[in-house]
Amino acid sequence: MSEFDLIDKYFTRPTKHALLGVGDDCALLAPSKSMHQCITSDMLVEGRHFLSTVDPFRLGVKSLAVNLSDLAACGATPTAFTLSLSIPQVDPNWLEGFSKGIWDTALEFGVDLVGGDTTRGPLCICITAIGEVPPGDALLRSGALEGDDIYVSGTLGDAAWALDVFRGNTSVDGEIFERIRRRLEQPTPRVKLGVALRGVANACLDLSDGLIGDLNHILQRSGVGAELSTEWINNSEAISGDLLELGLHKRLEYVLSGGDDYELLFTASKDAREEVRLAGLQAQTPVTCIGQIKKEKGLQIFDPKGGLIQRRFASFDHFQFPA
Ligand code: ADP
Ligand code: MG
Repeated sequence: MSEFDLIDKYFTRPTKHALLGVGDDCALLAPSKSMHQCITSDMLVEGRHFLSTVDPFRLGVKSLAVNLSDLAACGATPTAFTLSLSIPQVDPNWLEGFSKGIWDTALEFGVDLVGGDTTRGPLCICITAIGEVPPGDALLRSGALEGDDIYVSGTLGDAAWALDVFRGNTSVDGEIFERIRRRLEQPTPRVKLGVALRGVANACLDLSDGLIGDLNHILQRSGVGAELSTEWINNSEAISGDLLELGLHKRLEYVLSGGDDYELLFTASKDAREEVRLAGLQAQTPVTCIGQIKKEKGLQIFDPKGGLIQRRFASFDHFQFPA
């Protein structure tokens, strides 16, 4: 199969919004009047971001989902994306599954595949996604204010647990594994929630590298500190029933330092609690308050009984606590 037959067969479909999609030297988009455009790019490299054994359909879903998650974090409505693909060989089974994952996700979120590049090489997927947001409404990392509540969407830690199982560090019942590996392999981009949080959240990002590290991005960009509680780890919508079966130490590790959640982490004024609740309802996505923004720099994490976690969980040396 030639490169062009491959593009034609697997990656070309009529566009819904774009004026011109795959097939020419450039795609043509017609941005909505007086909207700002948001652009983001994420690369997935075999062995680094996914395991070689992953189902190609799920890989297609994840490749697009992680990019849509970045748009969600900015409160953007996704419009289009490009797909640059390096593949070791033309494997019709793989291409069939992978492209189905891409198309299913594109359809669900109403985005057009408008172009890309295809080359032979080590398996690597690079997607650039475009979205739009009304001027002034983009959610940024830099907007957190003293006194803000800190929230997360969905549940945390499941993906990190699944990765631990894949790495052979722990084992788990088959049914639970199916559920948690889905969270790792097919994350849900919180696009509706991001849009609903326009004008409500003060700061936002999506959780890809672990709660503590990612919260620190908000703190640094916003020039503030935070106190993180963890009693929600014992009983809240932010913890899956499966994760609750684990001991506290493991749960804390997966939830605080595990990556790949692709949930939104955001802050909002205490006065906006009702609006945050309504945004969650509107997006049919749970949101859980997990802490507060403080004026003093640094991040303090308290265990469910109120003790400082840095001391009690000294073995958490695979992530860095700020001084
Ligand atoms: P050029 O030679 O101008 O770089 P290519 O031959 O690489 O163009 O690609 C031909 C057309 O197919 C272009 O419109 C390009 O955007 C599109 N395309 C190439 N690879 C992909 C892909 N993996 N997914 C979607 N579109 C692609
Ligand atoms: Mg090219």
